[in-house]
Amino acid sequence: TQELHIVGGGMAGSEAAWQAAQAGIPVVLHEMRPQIGTFAHQTGNFAEMVCSNSFRSDDDERNAVGLLHWEMRAAGGLLMEMADRHALPAGGALAVDREAFAQAVTERLRAHPLIRVEPGEITRLPDQGHWIVATGPLTSDALAQAIRAETGTESLAFFDAIAPIVHFDTIDLSQAWFQSRYDKGETEDERKAYLNCPMTKDQYEAFIDALLAADKAEFREGETAGYFDGCLPIEVMAERGRETLRHGPMKPVGLTNANDPTNKPYAVVQLRRDNALGTLYNIVGFQTKMKYGAQVEVFRMIPGLQEAGFARLGGIHRNTFLNSPTLLDDQMRLRSRPNLRFAGQVTGVEGYVESAAMGLVAGRLAAAEIAGQMLPPPPRVTAMGALIAHITGDADAKTFQPMNVNFGLFPPIDMKGGRRGRKDRYKGYTDRAKEAFSDWLASAPVSVGV
Ligand code: FAD
Repeated sequence: TQELHIVGGGMAGSEAAWQAAQAGIPVVLHEMRPQIGTFAHQTGNFAEMVCSNSFRSDDDERNAVGLLHWEMRAAGGLLMEMADRHALPAGGALAVDREAFAQAVTERLRAHPLIRVEPGEITRLPDQGHWIVATGPLTSDALAQAIRAETGTESLAFFDAIAPIVHFDTIDLSQAWFQSRYDKGETEDERKAYLNCPMTKDQYEAFIDALLAADKAEFREGETAGYFDGCLPIEVMAERGRETLRHGPMKPVGLTNANDPTNKPYAVVQLRRDNALGTLYNIVGFQTKMKYGAQVEVFRMIPGLQEAGFARLGGIHRNTFLNSPTLLDDQMRLRSRPNLRFAGQVTGVEGYVESAAMGLVAGRLAAAEIAGQMLPPPPRVTAMGALIAHITGDADAKTFQPMNVNFGLFPPIDMKGGRRGRKDRYKGYTDRAKEAFSDWLASAPVSVGV
């Protein structure tokens, strides 16, 4: 049988290696640590958690990340097994003893008869063989350069400047209205690509005060290099002058308040449709280093967003990631070099759990391909399938930013039987996902657990 090479023994690479080896495929796992480090990793262990020690909510009935946990457990995921074994009490969240967790993952991978660990940095994209590149947000410089040479400079980002993303169904349309600036756009659909939230002078002044007062996270060393030009955090814009935002992302020009046409807004917050389903909208230009709690408070001051539910909050981080919607096929293969798959955060998902889940799928897809039977990706009503569909197709390639799993990525649930509460709807999503995911596992041509 041919070998599968995996670059990077982080969240994604570790799970990919486990899945492929369990399917009977020999794996070579390449990892540069501890010989070459990153600014965030501290050890040479596989699956090191670089910051928080939490895999977030473990509620698999009403929470999308909890559903990902369920799917990974159902698929015999190594990382979930080790996380469960080394869990710490944390209410509804799955927090783990990070040292014991990474140590256990490392031991299990090293002990697997079909996994060989090859220390060292991979600096070039290989021409031959089956590969999964799972080098994460801190992909080494040499490899990042090689990827850039292959994909084009525009297609590999080194930072993410994430504007918060809001669930469409939590926006108050009696205050916000659809309109593109100067009514640009050929079709009705294009003109509906933007939602606008108006502010009076008093609301604007109060908003600026709140921004200036909010709790912010510090930049880490090396994080800001070359960064500040294009996308300043909104609070930094506000610090530069109280009017800066009103002349920037909040400028009120080219827009007429459809809910109150005679009342000219003093400032306008614009949201832009973020996915093809129209279930998610991002707040345009609102990248921020405010802490998460502060973001929710400050953004709910925006008229129309008082009840906003956030699919993800804003952030600015060092992060190497591909423009996956243009570069990857639905098998997570690089279109220009189908012998290479990408997995983990470098594909534009965000977070330990999402990265591990993408590793799990990539490992299975690669194992199936090597065994001579293509496996379709998980159905898009599953959490894994929804993430893959988002990064490889649904997301707008022009504004592509890393994404956490959330129910806004799922095809809307059939609302037969009248309007259901959000909690019921979430249960509907998870029930539907579990059934489809179980079917997908059962259909896998590669038998797991040799
Ligand atoms: P990683 O886990 O980073 O694994 C990539 C691996 O590839 C590393 O082991 C690296 O050494 C190796 N590697 C890189 N280049 C090469 C090469 N050329 N050759 C060989 N090996 C290579 N997520 C959360 O859920 N919660 C958090 O609190 C959180 N905090 C974060 C803080 C920081 C500073 C950063 C940078 C990220 C944070 N993340 C957090 C995101 C988190 O890092 C990722 O979600 C997750 O670790 C990504 O998994 P991965 O497998 O894609 O990458």
